Order: sequence, then C-alpha cells, then structure tokens
Amino acid sequence: MNKDRNSLEGGAVQTGAGLPRDAKPLFGMGPEELRAVVEGLGLPKYRAVQLGDALYKQRVESLEAVTTLPLEVRQGLAAEGFVVGLPEIVQAAKSVDGTERYLVRLADGETVETVWMPGGDGGERGDGSEAAVEEEGEAGDPQDAVEAAVEKQIPFGNDQQRDAVETTQPKQIPSLRYGMTNKGDIGIQDGYKRATICISSQVGCAVNCQFCLTAKLGIKRNLTAGEIAGQVSAVLNRQRVRIGSGKGVETPSRINLVFMGMGEPFLNYDAFMQSVHVLRGMGIPESRMTVSTSGIEPSIRRFAEEPVRPKLALSLNASNDAVRREIMPITKKWDIAALLAAVGSIPLGKREYVTFEYVLLGGVNDQPEHAREVLALLKGMKAKVNLIVWNPGPGIDYHQPKPEDVAVFHRMLIDGGIPTFTRRPRGRDIYAACGQLKRTVDAAPALVEISTR
Ligand code: SF4
Repeated sequence: MNKDRNSLEGGAVQTGAGLPRDAKPLFGMGPEELRAVVEGLGLPKYRAVQLGDALYKQRVESLEAVTTLPLEVRQGLAAEGFVVGLPEIVQAAKSVDGTERYLVRLADGETVETVWMPGGDGGERGDGSEAAVEEEGEAGDPQDAVEAAVEKQIPFGNDQQRDAVETTQPKQIPSLRYGMTNKGDIGIQDGYKRATICISSQVGCAVNCQFCLTAKLGIKRNLTAGEIAGQVSAVLNRQRVRIGSGKGVETPSRINLVFMGMGEPFLNYDAFMQSVHVLRGMGIPESRMTVSTSGIEPSIRRFAEEPVRPKLALSLNASNDAVRREIMPITKKWDIAALLAAVGSIPLGKREYVTFEYVLLGGVNDQPEHAREVLALLKGMKAKVNLIVWNPGPGIDYHQPKPEDVAVFHRMLIDGGIPTFTRRPRGRDIYAACGQLKRTVDAAPALVEISTR
C-alpha cells in the first residue's frame, strides 16, 4: 500500500482497512454527487469535474494526489471526512498461467476477491470474453471477428481446445510483457492482446449453488458501487495499465470486465448498475463488460430495460429443472422457462448474443441427453454457450467430467448450431478459477505469494 495514501485521511478511529470509521468515500460517486460535495464546500462546479477526472481518469489513490485541486480544497475535503476510498489489495497470489488473484480489503475490513487474467493464447476463452476471436480479427472491428468466429462455428478439437480439456494443470505461459508509454506508465504490449478483470459484487453469496466455493461463505453484505468499480481501479493501478489513447498506451478495447466474482450482481442490482456507469467513466465501454447471473428473473427484466448495459451471461448449468434444482436451489423460485422468457425480453444488438454458461459436473449434467435438452432449450435464441469444466474445491462433492464427455457435449452443441466454447480454467492452482473464489485466507492449497505492490 502507498504509505502516503491516507495521510490526508487519517486522524480518526481507524477501520480494518486503515480508513477513518466515518470516512466518506468519493470513489463511486457520479457527477451529481460530486457536484453536491464541492458545492457543500462552497466551491465552483468545475471543481467537481476536476475531482471526477482525478478519481476516474487519473485513478488517484489519495486526496493528496489530486493536484488539480488547491491544497486548501483537498484539506477542506479531508476535514469533512472525504477520502478517495479505493479498496486495497492486501494479498496476492500468482498462478503459473499468469492469472493473479487478489484479496481486496474494503473500508470496514471485509474482504472480497478479484482476479486479473492477462493475455490470451489465441485459443481459449477462459475469461468469458470473446477475446480469442477478437485477436483473430485484431486489425479490424473486434465485433466483426466475433461474428466471423461464431459463423465459422469453431469446432472442438483444435490443439488449443483439446489442451483446454486435457490439461489438468494450466500450461506455462510467459509473464506479461511491459513497455513504457509516452507518459512513463506501463501498458500491455502486443504479444498479450488484452486482459480481463473478474470483479466481485457481494461479500459472499446467498444463492447457494452447490458446486461453488463462494456459496460456503453465505452472504455478508452487498458491495457499494464504489467498492465494485474500485476493484478495477485498484487492479489497473497495480498493473500500471493506462486506459486512453496515445502511443503505446493500452486501449479500452483490450480491457474486459466480467462481473463473475463473488456474489450475485443481480441481487445487488442498483450498486452493480451504478458501478457500470462509474467504469464507463473510467474509459471502459459497456460492450467490454459481461455480467453473469444465476437467474434472478425480476432483475433480468429490469436489465432488459436499461438503455446502457453490459452483455449478459446466464449461468444455466443444467438442461432441465430437476437437475438445476439440485445444483442451483434458486431454480425453485424461478424455473428455466421463466429465466429464458426473461432473457428473451432483452433487446439484443445486431451482433449481440446471450451467453449461457454451463459448468460441466461429471455424471450430473454432462451426458448426451443433457446436450440434447440444452439444444432444445436454446432453439431459436441468439445464444452461445460457454462450457466450463468444473473446478474442484474442498468440501464440494462433485467430480470433474471426463475429457471425452466434454468433447462429445461440445461437439453436439456445435452440430446443433449453437456457437460453443470450452473455457480453459484460469488460475486453478491458486483457486482463482470459476466457482472457486473464496477468501484467500480460507483456501486450502499453498499459495504462491507475491508482493501486493
Ligand atoms: S456460482 Fe455465483 S451465484 Fe452461485 S453461489 Fe457461487 S457466487 Fe453465488
């Protein structure tokens, strides 16, 4: 942690995160709220714009760093209890595949996990994005490449996809290559074409999916919009990634965000949507964001009404209600038919697809009859499927699917006309893979600890 971070922000009783207990975080506030703050201090409106730029464009970590504001203004904000209030990375573990998992501490001392997945090898979709196909069309519009790949119906069985299923340990990939930008910051260089950040939306989760480690925590509380978007700012700062234009500077099109960490974003809907707007203010377009829901039907319908929204992924995971009720008890509240009807109400863009995530559990939902049922469910929908080979976790009594069953399942969906991708597990060795996020302190395997700065 930056030692200077709270030097304007101390003085009061400290919380677990080292912030005053009555601190008022600025990060997460929209333009109106920032204007109210500066007007409350008797300052002109343009100070709110400067403050917003500092928070979201420069990603400052302390009031001291807001050098566009005079010292007395910064001191005035601090005296009123305002702080930047970014979550703090307090522990980090790095996978052999380059994935980094962070324990992120919030102002009240609670923790969530955030995952950084750098790069891609041109054949995996381990982050829920279409990154690999984007890389195929790097010279042109990425969406064209997505469309092209979908039309090509990339078959299961190429080397990289075979590797995705057959490799139990992630293969070694080189570390991120850095280069200096024109402003002295460091951006991701070619060779790794993009990175994805997986964000948490709640401390724990109430949904209780039976295959998920996070579910073991139960729910503690919702995150605020600032805490959700702040994870991204903290990670980008750590990775020294600049967002914006300029020679050698990472561009927004190469940072993907997935709301797939701890928690159910659609049970924290307002904060989640506000975080989307904050993140857009940081220069990341909503088209680079994907939110995954376990299936909160009323929130899906609200989402369908949003004028600006990320892409949607529905965590389907079963081909019929009986199996889904077993592995996702929330199905008792909203069955598959209700969820598909809600998803069908979303007005999709010309090139937009809804992603259906399907965690393959050996012997539970991975057989040919299940694939046939999935095809029947998704018939006529603009759908693509991400197959996820289940990641084992302590205390969870499922089995990994056999590679040949994954291959058959994948092939059947492709042959049935559904664009299908099998996601290579990322960060499995550090418990950062899908369904494995639980507080690092609770994780069983030895961690490869790395510096938090
Ligand atoms: S899979 Fe997602 S929704 Fe289900 S318990 Fe885990 S974190 Fe919650």
